[in-house]
Amino acid sequence: MNPRRREILRAAAASGVAALLPAPARAGRTVINDVSQLNPVEVADARRPRSTGEIQAALRAWPGTVSIGGGRFSQGGQIAEPGSLHVDMRGMNKVLSLDAQSRVIRVQAGIRWRDIQDAIDPHDLSVKIMQSFSNFTVGGALSVNCHGRYVGRGPLVNSVRAVQLVTADAQVLELSRSREPELFRAVFGGYGGLGVVTQVELDLDANTRMERIAQSVPLEDYPQFFRETVLADPKMVMHNADLISPDFDAPVAISWRATDKPVTEAKRLVPRGQRYAVDKDVIWAVTELPGGARVRKEVINPSVLGKQAVVWRNHEASLDTAMLEPRTRSMSTYLLQEFFIPQENFLPFVRKMAGILKAREVNALNVSIRHSPADKTSLLAWAPQEVFAFVLYYKQRSTQAASAKVRVWTRELIDAALENGGRYYLPYRLDATREQFRRAYPEAAEFTALKARVDPDKRFRNLLWDAYL
Ligand SMILES: Cc1cc2nc3c(=O)[nH]c(=O)nc-3n(C[C@H](O)[C@H](O)[C@H](O)COP(=O)(O)OP(=O)(O)OC[C@H]3O[C@@H](n4cnc5c(N)ncnc54)[C@H](O)[C@@H]3O)c2cc1C
Repeated sequence: MNPRRREILRAAAASGVAALLPAPARAGRTVINDVSQLNPVEVADARRPRSTGEIQAALRAWPGTVSIGGGRFSQGGQIAEPGSLHVDMRGMNKVLSLDAQSRVIRVQAGIRWRDIQDAIDPHDLSVKIMQSFSNFTVGGALSVNCHGRYVGRGPLVNSVRAVQLVTADAQVLELSRSREPELFRAVFGGYGGLGVVTQVELDLDANTRMERIAQSVPLEDYPQFFRETVLADPKMVMHNADLISPDFDAPVAISWRATDKPVTEAKRLVPRGQRYAVDKDVIWAVTELPGGARVRKEVINPSVLGKQAVVWRNHEASLDTAMLEPRTRSMSTYLLQEFFIPQENFLPFVRKMAGILKAREVNALNVSIRHSPADKTSLLAWAPQEVFAFVLYYKQRSTQAASAKVRVWTRELIDAALENGGRYYLPYRLDATREQFRRAYPEAAEFTALKARVDPDKRFRNLLWDAYL
């Protein structure tokens, strides 16, 4: 055993977390885990296909259940099912066609946003809608119907023209708003339950220079500030507002507005493979040292946000999750939760959320507020009406006791979201009760009926759908 692993195991045994460490892959066994390292699942086999044809062949040859993984950033076992054939999509990472004139790209679904950015940046084009980091695969992003900080754009579905899907009986279907529209709307937020998404056709945007504008906004004024200063300004490209502990009551709004000013950062994309030692140390200090949160609020944030910043959109969109990744996840881990709240209930929800986070002493690094217009396309939409999203980034110990405590306050936050007419996001830990899921996603019954039609033997499975369908 390598000395580093031995050292981690010894420390883990001493602190009682050993039972939670991912099982080391025993000879002939394949264990799939996600970024949190809290969900090891033993599958029967894993394949990394390179083409739609290889996926068809694998589905024909394998009689059992199938699970699908992309970048593996979901955090509750959404990528795996015990005893399944695991399809690892990361081998399907090619750009299939790019029409720079019409701003349309067709890609294999296992490609990461960052690989797309490398291909389109020379054409002065940008991804239209994606998450805040560039490591996710397009198929994974589509299957959760991700969103980013793009002003007025909403979920990924709003930038997708067509999807190629391989179904349980190895048929290849082309889906769009006019071809197989029922299936098209259900694959967004379908979490791999309907088939393997093998190709995706996306609209692109222009790559522009953007200037950062950071402003403190009183909590009660934020919805109006957002509508009048951000949403109504056609030059606004990205926006979010940060709330930090201990009170979560003083939003710092960060907008990126299109500009002709010269860039302060010459690089067009964030360089790959950086170590981010300083970023990691700062996050560790803020979450572990007494007074860390205050130092961040009073010293670090003002000094960073006070600086002028003009960057290319592709630079801001190519951030790497490595900057957040702790040196080890064996003792503690970083996780997310997200809640979508109708805009009129912004204030009651924030106040309730802040009360729960304080009372439960949650080690919250950040709550990022974003916005989405209503999603009228997707079946399992997280924004059936216009919403503000609250993305909670928190740290917990990697023990069962810590996870049990987190489950208590996560359920309280989900209740707060439901009481305020909202929903919660499904790529994270499976802490919601079945009743909470049912209330948040009443369309699940329709999804189940559709699944029964295209996957009658329930071949496509994972821990999310095992828990809630
Ligand atoms: C640090 C961090 C930051 C994040 N920021 C954001 C954000 O800004 N906005 C946001 O919306 N979300 C965000 N997320 C959540 C993220 O969007 C999801 O976890 C997403 O699933 C990640 O994509 P992935 O490629 O890792 O997918 P995976 O985790 O690998 O898969 C997710 C789901 O999609 C299914 N799937 C994957 N590929 C396919 C395919 N080709 N066909 C069919 N099903 C498939 C899987 O079975 C699984 O159910 C963040 C997560 C982390 C950890």
